[in-house]
Amino acid sequence: MKIKIVPERCISCGLCHIKSPSTFDYHDNGIVKFYTTEALEEEVPDTAENMQAVKSCPTAALQLVKEQR
Ligand code: SF4
Repeated sequence: MKIKIVPERCISCGLCHIKSPSTFDYHDNGIVKFYTTEALEEEVPDTAENMQAVKSCPTAALQLVKEQR
């Protein structure tokens, strides 16, 4: 699945990292980033943990990107 980060919506609550620590990390200011890249959109493993992270985000700072087919 592809996930988009909208940093200006992130309130640094920490939930996404708790749900999926191998995908989500934080900048020094607490704003979410991907663990492996500074990019705002990233293809991540199609796991329950990553889906939980997206669904848990209280501000929709994490969004699923629909792929064009
Ligand atoms: S769950 Fe959402 S608001 Fe909370 S740290 Fe992650 S991206 Fe930011």
